[in-house]
Amino acid sequence: MGYPKLVIDKEKLGHNVREMISICKKRGIEVCGVTKVYGGILEVEEVYIENGIKTIGHARLENLKAMEHLDVKKLLLRLPMLSECEDLVKYVDIALVSEIEIIRKISEEGKKINKKQDIILMIDLGDLREGIIKEEVNFYVEEIIKLENVNLKGIGVNLTCFGGVIPTNENLGELVEIGKRIEKEFEIKLDIISGGNSSTLYKVLDGTVPEGINHLRVGEGIIFGTEAGYQEKIPNMNYDVPHLELEVIELKEKNSAPTGEIGVNAFGKKVEFENIGKIIRCIVACGKQDVEYKDITPKNDKIKIIGGSSDHTIIDVTKSDKNIEHGDILNFGISYTALLALGTSKYVYKEVR
Ligand SMILES: *Cc1c(COP(=O)(O)O)cnc(C)c1O
Repeated sequence: MGYPKLVIDKEKLGHNVREMISICKKRGIEVCGVTKVYGGILEVEEVYIENGIKTIGHARLENLKAMEHLDVKKLLLRLPMLSECEDLVKYVDIALVSEIEIIRKISEEGKKINKKQDIILMIDLGDLREGIIKEEVNFYVEEIIKLENVNLKGIGVNLTCFGGVIPTNENLGELVEIGKRIEKEFEIKLDIISGGNSSTLYKVLDGTVPEGINHLRVGEGIIFGTEAGYQEKIPNMNYDVPHLELEVIELKEKNSAPTGEIGVNAFGKKVEFENIGKIIRCIVACGKQDVEYKDITPKNDKIKIIGGSSDHTIIDVTKSDKNIEHGDILNFGISYTALLALGTSKYVYKEVR
């Protein structure tokens, strides 16, 4: 296996999975493990399953299809395209939905293979990404229960991701109320009230998550031990589950500022460099095609990324107390955005170790 290499620590990930399940269980909440940001690595899915996850969430149907053989419930996070409903009924156990035309199509496809498809109706409570508006709830439930091959498994909300709306007693409480109203008015039982993603975790941790929320879809919280909304660390987690390994391809003492007439760089930008004389410059084999250098951080805090282009990242290693040589491997911590890019790049090797 070569480099760039995305490394996922199996033990650390397993611990985070177990810890998250335990934190949520205390509040009667089931965790759907969201692994989408890894792209789709079967060994990663297996770590989640081995450590107690019963439902895995992906945004791309392809990834759920690839794990068809794994003994776990598969939840499709992104609203289905009309064109994928035929595959959806084959490979997805639970789908998040918000469009009646698509729900009807799912029922139609379900009928063909004699399956009743579980769905979670998404309700928009202000974040303005997916979900029906509150005023549409009755119409939707009425229409859904008329359909033979879909089962309204529950309702859900997504917050923070787009509009930055923070989960509160008000919006989550409203979701619970809507659920109760549906159950009463339509005399049905909703198994799942899905209260969002990792940004809801702070309310689970401080014990203020409204009673009735019994399901969360957790990506970042398990992978990074943090939660989006407040950027706080969740106690007792590992914060370095994934890291990036890059190989040194050049190491030379050179000027700190370019020489010659300065125009724009390969990305149409005029860049400015402070002239601090000669420095030791290190190039690693990784560039914007793999990940934005701003989204990775050297583990060695004595070295500093100066910049990068499509295939190169340039690092000032002058102050390094470790001897760095051509061919050495440097380690980097990565952000959510970096993992998203690295996980889906075909140039990046992936190792679960
Ligand atoms: C990605 C996603 C999640 C998980 O988000 P995290 O912030 O990583 O926990 C949950 N729900 C939906 C609909 C998503 O698309």
